[in-house]
Amino acid sequence: MDSVLCDKVLVLNRSWIAVNVATVRRALTLVFQDAARIVAPQDYSTYDFDGWIEASREAQSGRRIYSAATSICVPEVIVLSDFNGRFSKEVRFSRRNIFDRDENCCQYCKKKMDRGDLTLDHVVPRSRGGTSTWTNIVLACVKCNMKKGDRLLTEINMKLLKKPIKPQWATRVGVKLGRIRKPSWERFLEEAYWEVELKA
Ligand SMILES: [Zn+2]
Repeated sequence: MDSVLCDKVLVLNRSWIAVNVATVRRALTLVFQDAARIVAPQDYSTYDFDGWIEASREAQSGRRIYSAATSICVPEVIVLSDFNGRFSKEVRFSRRNIFDRDENCCQYCKKKMDRGDLTLDHVVPRSRGGTSTWTNIVLACVKCNMKKGDRLLTEINMKLLKKPIKPQWATRVGVKLGRIRKPSWERFLEEAYWEVELKA
């Protein structure tokens, strides 16, 4: 039962914009408190807690949560009753997020490595006026970083795997969904978001 409760539910704000993911446990609590309703992905109909129990009785398929008295279907999407903001509007510029953006790959030799074997490289070296920003910091393995040293890419004939940009993945959803997204979530996520996610 516990693992199902830790499963992820997509959280929509009052305008049906995806703003977060929550655990099933948290989602059911919100629904139980009337702060949210469960969305049936098939037809977008919404259910309060009792309604969901009722609907679960008739449902033939899908994953279920069992308790002593009954079983209910595992919700996959909920819509909040009040909240209409968005969570994180910006991807925070951080070491961890750069590792995520560059997917643990050296941006020069394209090799995927353990995080411990990668360094943060200033594309335009600090000594040449380069700044610590999304567009000037990339992951580089120790070897490539040493090779490049304090030079500009044009001076040493090295190329970046891709142009470093500020990632967009948190602008709509507030969290990265990469490995946990469910098919039932797709229609609630904007196309722009998916494009970034697929390219990354
Ligand atoms: Zn490298």
